[in-house]
Amino acid sequence: MIQPARHPGEGRDPACQRPTIDPGLHRDDGVLAGNDPSDRAWLHEAIGRLAQETARSADTHLLKLDFAGFPGIDFYFKDEAAHPTGSLKHRLARSLYLYALCNGRLRVGQAVVDASSGSTAIAEAWFARLLGLDFTAVMPACTAPAKIRAVEALGGACDLVDDPATVHARAAWHAARGACHLDQFGLAERATDWRGNNNIAESILGQLAREEHAQPAWIVCGAGTGGTSATIGRYLRYRRLPTRLCVAEPSGSGFVHGWRTRDPAACASQPTVIEGIGRPRVEPGFLFDVVDAVAEVPDAASIAAMNLLEDLFGRRYGGSSGTNLVACLQLAADMRARGERGSIVSLLSDRGERYAETLFDPAWLAARGLDPRPWRGALDACLADGHWHTP
Ligand SMILES: *Cc1c(COP(=O)(O)O)cnc(C)c1O
Repeated sequence: MIQPARHPGEGRDPACQRPTIDPGLHRDDGVLAGNDPSDRAWLHEAIGRLAQETARSADTHLLKLDFAGFPGIDFYFKDEAAHPTGSLKHRLARSLYLYALCNGRLRVGQAVVDASSGSTAIAEAWFARLLGLDFTAVMPACTAPAKIRAVEALGGACDLVDDPATVHARAAWHAARGACHLDQFGLAERATDWRGNNNIAESILGQLAREEHAQPAWIVCGAGTGGTSATIGRYLRYRRLPTRLCVAEPSGSGFVHGWRTRDPAACASQPTVIEGIGRPRVEPGFLFDVVDAVAEVPDAASIAAMNLLEDLFGRRYGGSSGTNLVACLQLAADMRARGERGSIVSLLSDRGERYAETLFDPAWLAARGLDPRPWRGALDACLADGHWHTP
């Protein structure tokens, strides 16, 4: 349920919102007070709850793999599926709530909304429940029923819109009626503390401290909101590390074209079945200038690598983790060809269970003309001989 705004001016688009002085709070001494002091008590309580959640949570593991074909090159995978809500969006949701609270945009009893049909909605619903707030995820009506159920199981509501292109407008509609718009695509890049506070880059570098190649040659990630790549790219510069950042993306994505042309209006030239990455357009959080390379990965290769990850780790991860693995192997083959040694780090971004009826279902893949088997053969050959192979 959406609750009415408690404060005048709250319902406006946050971007153009200016504080409004409530005449009811006009004090006798002539000082104009904009905020109700009781709000501060709730704010402190809410920020305290987020801090408690952080303290209760363990850091995610950095898992190491060695492959016969790559002597002297160490591979590490940060297991972001281990978060309580199963993906790297747990970090983002925590940051978005903290950012909204500390900016005075989220107040006691206020409803929360965001446009998301994926892992973000699940993580945001989880934190809304922690804070005792009502949460609505705006989703396209075609969203998989399992995801709708996951949000609802956490107490969130799903507002389904027929036209996927209208989710942002619909979220703005909720915001105009008093809800706080967490705005993952608009704010991901700035809501995360890029200098530290155990952001994903600081965590990775700390976990590598005792390894042979503690400063990796490459860190590889995908781009959905762009928040993860922005944080890693900024942190590498800030810490004056030689490590380069590679963004692994589905072939022809908006990020791929935008990176090449630096055109903020660039669009994807082909759709993808890999969720969480491969956005159709250049999102506001895409910081191209901190990216050193972009790997374009066909969907069939990502799915083959996703299956390979299951064999390597004995558990399932999602498609974007497969995209990352493909890019890691390409970079490693280049390093090997140049006689370089070192380490490559990437992310296991979410759990594979959610894709049992899609990416892990051969019939579903066949209906979309996707056959990962030739790519699987090429990837296995690469692990064995250290050369890049294509089907
Ligand atoms: C969001 C997401 C990404 C990309 O991360 P961003 O920080 O949003 O760019 C990659 N994989 C999965 C599964 C995701 O949900």
